[in-house]
Amino acid sequence: MNTEKIAALTTWLEKSSLSGAILTNFHDIAYLSGFESDPIERVLALVIVTDNVPFIFGPALEVNSIKESGWHYPAFGYEDQENPWEILTQHIKARTNGKHFAIEGDNLTVTRLRELKKAFPEATFDADVTDQINHLRLIKTPAEIKHMLAAGRDADRAFNFGFEALAENISELEAVAELEYQLKKTGVPAMSFDTLLQFGDHAADPHGSTSTRRLKSGELALFDLGTITEGYASDATRTVAFGEVSDNAKEIHAVTLEAQRTAQAKAKIGMTASDLDAVARDVITKAGYGEYFSHRLGHGLGTSVHEFPSIMAGNNLELQEDMVFSIEPGIYIPGVAGVRIEDSGYMSKNGFVPFTETPKDLLQF
Ligand code: MN
Ligand code: MN
Repeated sequence: MNTEKIAALTTWLEKSSLSGAILTNFHDIAYLSGFESDPIERVLALVIVTDNVPFIFGPALEVNSIKESGWHYPAFGYEDQENPWEILTQHIKARTNGKHFAIEGDNLTVTRLRELKKAFPEATFDADVTDQINHLRLIKTPAEIKHMLAAGRDADRAFNFGFEALAENISELEAVAELEYQLKKTGVPAMSFDTLLQFGDHAADPHGSTSTRRLKSGELALFDLGTITEGYASDATRTVAFGEVSDNAKEIHAVTLEAQRTAQAKAKIGMTASDLDAVARDVITKAGYGEYFSHRLGHGLGTSVHEFPSIMAGNNLELQEDMVFSIEPGIYIPGVAGVRIEDSGYMSKNGFVPFTETPKDLLQF
């Protein structure tokens, strides 16, 4: 339970003359309460009111887990056949006379907002607490960074299992199955997203997915993976050679690596996210591959694998101590090959400290 951050939100609500906030993004609920569960289609809400203690409202079958998660405040459930919005409204009314609430605009669907308004017609839900929560999550605590370093160790072990699985004619899916099987046997409960493995020209599609494509000698293999460790996500990418690859493949790997290393070395507190993106982009552009680096340099992560800040052109947010983000330049040449190299890490006074340590030079298997 993150008492400090809940207090910070309460202060913001008071300053904004709001009665409370109804949070429904389960990542934000996990971050603030310590209770982590994706409710899928059921309703899970963390309600913070300014004049009473906060409470969690969720499926009846989750109430015990909420209480066991370390949440010290009330937890209430609803049964599947009940109207959750009516019951949630009753609990809110029992705790506050206030009628002005903030919601999470990027999470609460229009349909759910309609249900809420129907159950609680005298209240307003015009305020949005999304920016405040993103801001709270932006700077990590020492404990959070410790969890993310542990997640990085797991990602390093995952790469090793993946590299060992590479073999002539193995499919991307088969190699990922092997990687995850070996990793889960060591106690890692989950990946932070579907492990991506792409061979040869398939890696030229940065939005592609792991497929039945088979590996041939002389091709690159791009692994983009992450684990959930101690509730925190890791996210890292390595591109390795299977057999002897072409000079062109070696060159785009070398340019991507120079861009990644340069950005990592030049990241400094006080620099803008936009300027950091430009550092990596300049290296790739000068080498003649600018048009093939088609995405932002990086993104924040924490209890979820994508959060603020976005490391991209136009974002003038300054990098601050204990901000966590990825640095992941790539070069994708359609029909030829794709390379991406990614480390996530945190900003310290002395610069960027990566969570992953797997070598980034072109490893050959
Ligand atoms: Mn990644
Ligand atoms: Mn990433």
